[in-house]
Amino acid sequence: MSKIHIFTEELNALDHERFALLFPELSRATPELFRSMSIASQSLSNVDFFGNPQGVRRDNGFEQALSSVLAASIADHVTTLNASILDQLNTLRMIVLKWAQLTRQEESLSYFGYIFYRFHKYSRALVSEKLKYLTCVAAINEHSLAHYFVPNPLRAWYLSQLGVGDKLSDDFFDLEDADRLAAPASGYGLHFKKSNRYNLKLPFSLLDTEIETPVQANGKMVTSCPHCHQKCRVSLFEKMQISCPKCQSTWLQYA
Ligand SMILES: [Zn+2]
Repeated sequence: MSKIHIFTEELNALDHERFALLFPELSRATPELFRSMSIASQSLSNVDFFGNPQGVRRDNGFEQALSSVLAASIADHVTTLNASILDQLNTLRMIVLKWAQLTRQEESLSYFGYIFYRFHKYSRALVSEKLKYLTCVAAINEHSLAHYFVPNPLRAWYLSQLGVGDKLSDDFFDLEDADRLAAPASGYGLHFKKSNRYNLKLPFSLLDTEIETPVQANGKMVTSCPHCHQKCRVSLFEKMQISCPKCQSTWLQYA
C-alpha cells in the first residue's frame, strides 16, 4: 500500500509512454541524471567499517544533469522559477522517484538521497544556484502540470520509541536517522546518517505538529484512526495490528 500513497493518483496512473508524452523534456533530460547517479550510487555503496562512504565520485556530470532536469521541469510546466525552494526539491524528489519506478533504477536513488537528505543545506544552495542560470528558459505558465508532482499529503505520522512511522504505509524512520530541527522550527530533519538507507518517499523534514504522540499508560495505548480519527484504545505491544471499531480499517503501529 505504501506505493500508492507517495504519488498523486494522476502521476501514479502514468506509464512510461504516457509520461513521455506529457513530459517530453523531462523524459529527455532525466536519463542523464540517472546515468550520473548510478555511478555515484555505486561509489557510495563502498563504505568503511562504520558505514561511512569511502569517497564519492563527484566529477561525473551530476550537477550539469541536475541543471538540465531543472530546465526540463520548467519547460514541461512542472515547476516555475517562482516556486519556493522546498517545492522545487519536492518536485525533484517526485520526478526521480517516478522515473526510478518507470525504469526500475531504484538503486540509483541513493546518491540523490545522499545529496538531498544528508547534505540538505548544500542541495538547497545547489538547486538555487542552478535555477539562477535558468532565467532564459521559457516559463509559460498557462497550463501548469505542477499538481502531478506534489507529494501526496495523505500521511498519518506517529511517534514510537524508536522512530516515526506512517500508519498509512510502511514508511518509517529511526530517530537516529534525523536531527531535531533548529528553533524556532520544532520537528525532524532527515539525514539517514545511521542507516545510510535513503528512503525518498519520506519528506526532507517533518514538523512535530504533523506527528501524533500516542498516549501510553497501564499497558494500554490510545491512538487515533488514520481514516476517521476515532480514538482507539489497545493493549500495548511492541508491534500492534490495530482495527478501528468505528470504520473497521486496520493498520500496523509500533509502540
Ligand atoms: Zn476509523
